[in-house]
Amino acid sequence: MKELGAMRVPLVDLGAQYESIREDLLAAVTRVCDSQRYILGPEVELAEQELAKRLSATHAIGVSSGTDALLVSLMALGVRPGDEVVTSTYSFFASAGSIARLGATPVFVDIDLATFNLDPESVKAAITPKTKVIMPVHLFGLAAPIDPILEAAAEVGIPVLEDACQAVGARYREKQVGTLGALGCISFFPSKALSAFGDGGLVVTNDDELAARVRRLRTHGAESKYCHSEIGGNFRLDAMQAAILRVKAPHLPHWLDQRRQNAARYTRLFEEADVVTFGVELPVEPEDHWHTYHQYVIKAPRRDELRKHLEAHDVGTAVYYPVPLHRQECFAHLGYAAGSLPRAEATAETALALPMYPELTEEQQTHVVETMAQYLRMS
Ligand SMILES: *Cc1c(COP(=O)(O)O)cnc(C)c1O
Repeated sequence: MKELGAMRVPLVDLGAQYESIREDLLAAVTRVCDSQRYILGPEVELAEQELAKRLSATHAIGVSSGTDALLVSLMALGVRPGDEVVTSTYSFFASAGSIARLGATPVFVDIDLATFNLDPESVKAAITPKTKVIMPVHLFGLAAPIDPILEAAAEVGIPVLEDACQAVGARYREKQVGTLGALGCISFFPSKALSAFGDGGLVVTNDDELAARVRRLRTHGAESKYCHSEIGGNFRLDAMQAAILRVKAPHLPHWLDQRRQNAARYTRLFEEADVVTFGVELPVEPEDHWHTYHQYVIKAPRRDELRKHLEAHDVGTAVYYPVPLHRQECFAHLGYAAGSLPRAEATAETALALPMYPELTEEQQTHVVETMAQYLRMS
């Protein structure tokens, strides 16, 4: 058996990106410190204007995290106790947590096996007279099947809120995700494709009234200082994070191109190594979609053993997600039995995220693929 060379391939490497723009970032941080304006103010306003333009939205509202973007958007759509919100069971916890925190009920639907995104037929079947919002999640950087979801929502006259936290810059038919429904939410968590140096998020919308309401809710529902027309929270984006995002955002198109190139290279290398014959499935990019590969997620039989082998050869991996949301302990009272959303449950057993970031090198990717091929051939 061929000896694999020693090489470390982390799941994400934020250092490489930092080094490439360090001077600009430090200058931006210094500018904020010198200005002594830390909460909202001109830095946040400029970031919002620039991001709105970049994401082709009329309005962009900086908020404290992707989770708070979802929470404040649901509040702006008037979601209340007793309401139902239809969403994917296969997502990060915040998608469902934000719904439950408002006293509403998340109604979980199953996913499509090839795309990991929620299945539109299941969405239609989940709509009841109590459904207030449909919340598709654009998972791993790939737009969810938005056309049938928008159609289903329009039929019953309810809004669509996009959880685009993992999909900044992703497109469907040349349109930016986040602007397809009533509101879109983006996360700037450090591992996301466009990230802050801490927590941060964004709400985008083309609706003037919803934008005004999100802005109001972001500062405790204050119409003007100390006059509260409704109850909101502190959901503000820091000036420091806004300044960092202003440095990084112009690089986003290039970073996303690099992610796409790396994904294409993985796929080519995996095809050359013939991993498909061992039952491995590679990510897909359906027609009309522009995948940003926030994650490159494969499906593999005996996933946990493969993962151990990769880790032993210094290849970082992650499982997104080991437990679908409908099977989380905190949602046990909703009564979803094991096997009730079988495609998501099966995917939770086989999905494996491989190292993915713009600066990933061909040598590193070759190491990942060879390490995996070695395991598959010997097991
Ligand atoms: C990251 C993420 C969130 C939450 O974002 P935070 O900024 O970490 O609060 C919400 N939904 C999805 C799908 C995410 O991946």
